[in-house]
Amino acid sequence: MPIVDVETAAALLRRGEVVAIPTETVYGLAANALDEAAVRRVFALKGRPASHPLILHARDPRPWARFDARAEKLAAYWPGPITLVLPRRGVPDVVTGGRDTLAVRVPGHPVALDLLHRLDFPLAAPSANRFGQVSPTTAAHVLASFDIPVLDGGPCAVGVESTIVDLSRPSPSILRAGAIDADAVCLALGEELAPASDTPAPGTLPTHYAPRARVVLVDDAPAGSLAIRRRPPAEYARALYAELRALDALAPDVIYAERCDPLGIGVAVNDRLERAARRA
Ligand code: AMP
Ligand code: MG
Repeated sequence: MPIVDVETAAALLRRGEVVAIPTETVYGLAANALDEAAVRRVFALKGRPASHPLILHARDPRPWARFDARAEKLAAYWPGPITLVLPRRGVPDVVTGGRDTLAVRVPGHPVALDLLHRLDFPLAAPSANRFGQVSPTTAAHVLASFDIPVLDGGPCAVGVESTIVDLSRPSPSILRAGAIDADAVCLALGEELAPASDTPAPGTLPTHYAPRARVVLVDDAPAGSLAIRRRPPAEYARALYAELRALDALAPDVIYAERCDPLGIGVAVNDRLERAARRA
């Protein structure tokens, strides 16, 4: 299936089809969040268990989740790479795997925003990779896995998935590290976070983001080895998945990956590297 323009993508989504869309984090496999059959197609394509909830992407997610004062504080980062888990209101069960909370985000990519403004429904979209595989940060990455229409928005500017903050419990906590780091979340909320390890996000498996090769996390890769080399955190995040894919395509036994400085998005980079390395 070809690359499509934004109006074609909108028309396909209105008909209940699945379209890959760019966001600033990674490419998403999008469907009308209010169309149960369309959302089921996303799960089927990905090979994702029905119990792993999808993120609702909207120009304004307020009709679909209960926003409290904390949610409004973090909504200041929208459009942007932060997802809020809130009590849900009126989306089909299939989006959330039946749970009573919903993850919502306003993506910052101009093409995604343009698309959302043409639609009168929100999109449910997980990352556009097969379940457990490396996330896509270009249209070509998506087309390597799926024969579906892709709206090409260029390489993703952030490169790792959104920060997920759970606001559905008494104390807020980060379920997944991303570009908006813990300090930024605390600053906006004006309060401390519950420890992350207490609350793993459903679907963030220890063996996520795994290429075929064994990934070995190191401070300094052996000279001459196939390796992802350390660079400033934002640059590392942007390059991470493309390099993992490119090196994996050479079918090596081992890919070395140098730990990122744990500053800002560097925490998210190390989190994804650890998951890629933690394969059986
Ligand atoms: P992906 O779009 O592939 O990054 O996956 C979306 C991720 O969002 C899932 O793996 C979950 O970890 C998280 N998520 C979505 N909905 C919820 C929810 N209601 N509660 C907690 N986490 C969620
Ligand atoms: Mg994913």
